[in-house]
Amino acid sequence: MEQKTLACPVCQSNKAEIAGEDVKLSGRFQNKEFLTTSLTVLRCIHCGYYMFFDNTAQFTTKEPSEES
Ligand SMILES: [Zn+2]
Repeated sequence: MEQKTLACPVCQSNKAEIAGEDVKLSGRFQNKEFLTTSLTVLRCIHCGYYMFFDNTAQFTTKEPSEES
């Protein structure tokens, strides 16, 4: 099965390495702390840009169906 082409939003490179799996980010917004769901972090090999995907993302050729 062919992998879906991944393009870096900064440099359009399609080469990225996995920087981390099951990563949860904590943050704060209006004095409330929050924690994200588990994320997969990819890092662009070309420019170092970090891309975050939740675990529902799949890197396949299957396109998400648009439901009205
Ligand atoms: Zn890049």
